[in-house]
Amino acid sequence: MLLIRCPYCGPRPEIEFAYGGEAHIARPQSPALLDDDQWAEFLFLRSNPKGVHCERWRHLHGCARFFNAIRDTLSDVQPQAADQVNEMLKALNQQSEVDIEKDLIGSLGDEWAYFTDPAIGGRGIASLTVVNHLKDPATFERSMVKMQDFVLQQIEQQMGPGQKPQIHFQTVKIDGMNIHYLAVPLISPSWVVHDGMLYVAGFPQVAAAAARRGASAENSIRKNAAFVAMHERLGRPADYAQLSLPTLPVVWNTV
Ligand SMILES: [Zn+2]
Repeated sequence: MLLIRCPYCGPRPEIEFAYGGEAHIARPQSPALLDDDQWAEFLFLRSNPKGVHCERWRHLHGCARFFNAIRDTLSDVQPQAADQVNEMLKALNQQSEVDIEKDLIGSLGDEWAYFTDPAIGGRGIASLTVVNHLKDPATFERSMVKMQDFVLQQIEQQMGPGQKPQIHFQTVKIDGMNIHYLAVPLISPSWVVHDGMLYVAGFPQVAAAAARRGASAENSIRKNAAFVAMHERLGRPADYAQLSLPTLPVVWNTV
Protein backbone atom coordinates (compact mmCIF):
# COMPACT_ATOMS: atom_id res chain seq x y z
CA MET A 1 0.00 0.00 0.00
CA LEU A 2 1.10 3.56 -0.71
CA LEU A 3 1.41 6.24 1.91
CA ILE A 4 0.16 9.38 0.18
CA ARG A 5 0.70 12.87 1.53
CA CYS A 6 -2.47 14.95 1.17
CA PRO A 7 -1.32 18.60 1.08
CA TYR A 8 -4.24 19.49 3.37
CA CYS A 9 -4.33 16.56 5.84
CA GLY A 10 -0.83 15.06 5.78
CA PRO A 11 0.25 11.44 5.15
CA ARG A 12 -2.66 8.98 4.84
CA PRO A 13 -2.98 5.38 3.57
CA GLU A 14 -3.78 4.78 -0.08
CA ILE A 15 -7.31 3.39 0.60
CA GLU A 16 -8.48 6.91 1.52
CA PHE A 17 -7.69 8.20 -1.98
CA ALA A 18 -9.09 7.93 -5.48
CA TYR A 19 -6.71 8.09 -8.45
CA GLY A 20 -7.52 10.84 -10.95
CA GLY A 21 -5.20 10.01 -13.85
CA GLU A 22 -2.34 11.92 -15.38
CA ALA A 23 -1.98 15.59 -14.34
CA HIS A 24 -1.65 18.59 -16.66
CA ILE A 25 -3.91 17.30 -19.43
CA ALA A 26 -5.25 20.56 -20.89
CA ARG A 27 -8.73 20.70 -22.37
CA PRO A 28 -8.78 21.76 -26.03
CA GLN A 29 -9.25 25.50 -26.42
CA SER A 30 -11.62 25.14 -29.39
CA PRO A 31 -13.29 21.71 -29.11
CA ALA A 32 -15.39 22.26 -32.25
CA LEU A 33 -12.24 22.44 -34.38
CA LEU A 34 -10.81 19.07 -33.36
CA ASP A 35 -10.88 16.08 -35.70
CA ASP A 36 -11.41 12.49 -34.55
CA ASP A 37 -7.72 11.75 -34.14
CA GLN A 38 -7.20 14.84 -31.99
CA TRP A 39 -10.19 13.88 -29.85
CA ALA A 40 -8.88 10.35 -29.44
CA GLU A 41 -5.52 11.72 -28.38
CA PHE A 42 -7.05 14.10 -25.82
CA LEU A 43 -9.41 11.49 -24.37
CA PHE A 44 -7.41 8.29 -24.42
CA LEU A 45 -3.69 8.74 -25.03
CA ARG A 46 -1.63 9.13 -21.87
CA SER A 47 2.06 8.97 -21.17
CA ASN A 48 3.18 5.88 -19.35
CA PRO A 49 6.67 6.68 -18.10
CA LYS A 50 9.00 4.38 -16.27
CA GLY A 51 10.03 6.89 -13.61
CA VAL A 52 8.66 10.25 -12.52
CA HIS A 53 4.97 10.78 -13.27
CA CYS A 54 2.71 13.76 -12.41
CA GLU A 55 -0.78 12.65 -11.43
CA ARG A 56 -4.11 13.80 -9.97
CA TRP A 57 -5.33 12.31 -6.70
CA ARG A 58 -8.45 12.98 -4.64
CA HIS A 59 -8.55 12.56 -0.89
CA LEU A 60 -12.00 11.01 -1.20
CA HIS A 61 -12.37 9.67 2.35
CA GLY A 62 -10.81 12.70 3.98
CA CYS A 63 -10.98 16.36 2.93
CA ALA A 64 -12.35 15.29 -0.51
CA ARG A 65 -10.02 17.72 -2.27
CA PHE A 66 -8.05 17.16 -5.49
CA PHE A 67 -4.31 17.73 -5.65
CA ASN A 68 -1.34 16.95 -7.90
CA ALA A 69 1.30 14.48 -6.81
CA ILE A 70 4.65 13.44 -8.23
CA ARG A 71 5.17 9.71 -8.15
CA ASP A 72 8.05 7.58 -9.28
CA THR A 73 6.40 4.61 -11.00
CA LEU A 74 9.40 2.46 -10.08
CA SER A 75 9.70 3.37 -6.41
CA ASP A 76 6.18 4.86 -5.88
CA VAL A 77 5.29 8.10 -4.15
CA GLN A 78 7.96 10.66 -3.35
CA PRO A 79 6.14 12.71 -0.75
CA GLN A 80 9.10 15.05 -0.36
CA ALA A 81 9.51 15.84 -4.06
CA ALA A 82 7.23 18.88 -4.05
CA ASP A 83 8.96 20.23 -0.93
CA GLN A 84 12.36 19.77 -2.56
CA VAL A 85 11.28 21.73 -5.61
CA ASN A 86 9.91 24.52 -3.40
CA GLU A 87 13.12 24.64 -1.35
CA MET A 88 15.25 24.81 -4.48
CA LEU A 89 13.09 27.56 -5.92
CA LYS A 90 13.31 29.53 -2.66
CA ALA A 91 17.10 29.31 -2.59
CA LEU A 92 17.30 30.31 -6.24
CA ASN A 93 14.98 33.28 -5.67
CA GLN A 94 17.14 34.48 -2.78
CA GLN A 95 20.45 34.15 -4.60
CA SER A 96 19.30 35.64 -7.89
CA GLU A 97 17.09 38.32 -6.28
CA VAL A 98 14.44 37.42 -8.83
CA ASP A 99 11.11 35.96 -7.77
CA ILE A 100 11.04 33.38 -10.55
CA GLU A 101 7.38 32.42 -10.19
CA LYS A 102 6.00 35.90 -9.63
CA ASP A 103 8.26 38.19 -11.67
CA LEU A 104 9.50 35.96 -14.48
CA ILE A 105 6.84 33.32 -15.15
CA GLY A 106 4.07 35.54 -13.75
CA SER A 107 4.74 38.36 -16.21
CA LEU A 108 4.43 36.08 -19.24
CA GLY A 109 1.03 36.27 -20.93
CA ASP A 110 -1.13 33.30 -21.89
CA GLU A 111 -0.94 34.04 -25.62
CA TRP A 112 1.94 32.56 -27.56
CA ALA A 113 2.58 32.37 -31.27
CA TYR A 114 5.47 31.41 -33.52
CA PHE A 115 6.20 32.04 -37.14
CA THR A 116 8.90 31.93 -39.75
CA ASP A 117 9.17 34.57 -42.41
CA PRO A 118 11.80 34.55 -45.20
CA ALA A 119 11.68 38.34 -45.26
CA ILE A 120 12.88 38.46 -41.65
CA GLY A 121 15.45 35.74 -41.21
CA GLY A 122 15.52 33.52 -44.29
CA ARG A 123 13.86 30.16 -44.67
CA GLY A 124 13.78 27.38 -42.12
CA ILE A 125 14.47 27.08 -38.46
CA ALA A 126 16.95 29.97 -38.35
CA SER A 127 14.13 32.46 -38.77
CA LEU A 128 11.79 30.90 -36.22
CA THR A 129 10.44 33.60 -33.92
CA VAL A 130 8.38 33.03 -30.80
CA VAL A 131 6.07 35.80 -29.58
CA ASN A 132 4.42 36.25 -26.22
CA HIS A 133 1.92 38.95 -25.29
CA LEU A 134 3.42 39.94 -21.92
CA LYS A 135 1.29 40.72 -18.88
CA ASP A 136 3.97 42.87 -17.31
CA PRO A 137 6.66 43.82 -19.87
CA ALA A 138 8.76 46.02 -17.55
CA THR A 139 9.00 43.44 -14.76
CA PHE A 140 9.77 40.67 -17.23
CA GLU A 141 12.65 42.56 -18.86
CA ARG A 142 14.13 43.65 -15.52
CA SER A 143 13.91 40.12 -14.07
CA MET A 144 15.37 38.48 -17.18
CA VAL A 145 18.39 40.80 -17.18
CA LYS A 146 18.97 40.08 -13.47
CA MET A 147 18.64 36.36 -14.11
CA GLN A 148 21.21 36.51 -16.93
CA ASP A 149 23.69 38.23 -14.62
CA PHE A 150 23.06 35.58 -12.00
CA VAL A 151 23.60 32.70 -14.46
CA LEU A 152 26.87 34.25 -15.63
CA GLN A 153 28.04 34.71 -12.02
CA GLN A 154 27.31 31.06 -11.33
CA ILE A 155 29.33 29.98 -14.36
CA GLU A 156 32.25 32.22 -13.32
CA GLN A 157 32.22 30.76 -9.81
CA GLN A 158 32.42 27.22 -11.19
CA MET A 159 35.49 28.07 -13.25
CA GLY A 160 39.03 28.14 -11.95
CA PRO A 161 40.82 31.37 -10.95
CA GLY A 162 41.83 33.53 -13.89
CA GLN A 163 39.48 31.75 -16.29
CA LYS A 164 36.74 33.64 -18.06
CA PRO A 165 33.57 32.02 -19.36
CA GLN A 166 33.34 31.55 -23.13
CA ILE A 167 29.77 32.80 -23.26
CA HIS A 168 28.48 36.32 -22.76
CA PHE A 169 25.11 37.90 -22.54
CA GLN A 170 25.14 41.06 -24.61
CA THR A 171 22.76 43.87 -25.26
CA VAL A 172 22.73 45.73 -28.55
CA LYS A 173 20.58 48.69 -29.51
CA ILE A 174 18.76 48.31 -32.82
CA ASP A 175 16.18 50.94 -33.82
CA GLY A 176 15.97 52.11 -30.20
CA MET A 177 15.16 48.61 -28.94
CA ASN A 178 17.34 46.72 -26.48
CA ILE A 179 18.07 43.35 -28.07
CA HIS A 180 19.51 40.90 -25.51
CA TYR A 181 21.45 37.95 -26.80
CA LEU A 182 23.71 35.12 -25.77
CA ALA A 183 26.96 35.31 -27.69
CA VAL A 184 27.89 31.75 -28.58
CA PRO A 185 29.10 30.31 -31.91
CA LEU A 186 26.62 29.45 -34.71
CA ILE A 187 23.46 30.68 -33.02
CA SER A 188 22.79 33.62 -30.69
CA PRO A 189 19.56 33.10 -28.77
CA SER A 190 18.04 36.58 -28.55
CA TRP A 191 15.09 38.29 -26.98
CA VAL A 192 13.56 41.73 -26.97
CA VAL A 193 10.59 43.29 -25.22
CA HIS A 194 8.87 45.78 -27.51
CA ASP A 195 5.42 47.31 -27.38
CA GLY A 196 4.31 44.88 -24.66
CA MET A 197 5.43 41.84 -26.66
CA LEU A 198 8.29 39.46 -26.07
CA TYR A 199 10.10 38.24 -29.21
CA VAL A 200 12.52 35.34 -28.96
CA ALA A 201 14.64 34.36 -31.95
CA GLY A 202 17.88 32.64 -32.92
CA PHE A 203 19.70 35.85 -33.85
CA PRO A 204 19.58 39.50 -32.66
CA GLN A 205 18.74 40.84 -36.12
CA VAL A 206 15.85 38.39 -36.50
CA ALA A 207 14.42 39.39 -33.10
CA ALA A 208 14.81 43.07 -34.03
CA ALA A 209 13.15 42.64 -37.44
CA ALA A 210 10.26 40.68 -35.94
CA ALA A 211 9.71 43.28 -33.21
CA ARG A 212 9.89 46.12 -35.72
CA ARG A 213 7.35 44.46 -37.96
CA GLY A 214 5.16 43.42 -35.04
CA ALA A 215 4.75 47.05 -34.06
CA SER A 216 4.08 48.23 -37.62
CA ALA A 217 0.79 48.59 -39.47
CA GLU A 218 1.68 45.64 -41.72
CA ASN A 219 1.15 43.22 -38.92
CA SER A 220 -2.00 41.31 -39.78
CA ILE A 221 -2.12 37.93 -41.46
CA ARG A 222 -4.90 39.35 -43.62
CA LYS A 223 -2.34 41.69 -45.20
CA ASN A 224 0.13 38.92 -45.95
CA ALA A 225 0.14 38.31 -49.71
CA ALA A 226 1.14 34.64 -49.43
CA PHE A 227 -1.62 33.98 -46.95
CA VAL A 228 -4.24 35.83 -48.98
CA ALA A 229 -3.25 33.81 -52.09
CA MET A 230 -3.50 30.53 -50.15
CA HIS A 231 -6.86 31.58 -48.76
CA GLU A 232 -8.12 32.23 -52.30
CA ARG A 233 -6.84 28.84 -53.50
CA LEU A 234 -8.71 27.11 -50.67
CA GLY A 235 -11.97 28.73 -51.75
CA ARG A 236 -11.91 31.30 -48.94
CA PRO A 237 -12.95 29.12 -46.00
CA ALA A 238 -14.61 31.20 -43.31
CA ASP A 239 -13.02 29.49 -40.34
CA TYR A 240 -9.44 30.60 -40.85
CA ALA A 241 -9.78 33.07 -37.96
CA GLN A 242 -8.34 30.34 -35.75
CA LEU A 243 -5.01 30.80 -37.55
CA SER A 244 -4.72 34.51 -37.04
CA LEU A 245 -4.80 34.80 -33.22
CA PRO A 246 -6.10 38.35 -33.68
CA THR A 247 -4.76 39.66 -30.38
CA LEU A 248 -1.17 39.05 -31.43
CA PRO A 249 0.60 41.50 -33.68
CA VAL A 250 2.41 39.15 -36.05
CA VAL A 251 1.19 35.76 -37.08
CA TRP A 252 1.87 34.38 -40.47
CA ASN A 253 3.65 31.50 -41.98
CA THR A 254 4.71 31.47 -45.56
CA VAL A 255 5.89 27.86 -45.70
ZN1 LIG B 1 -6.99 15.58 2.62
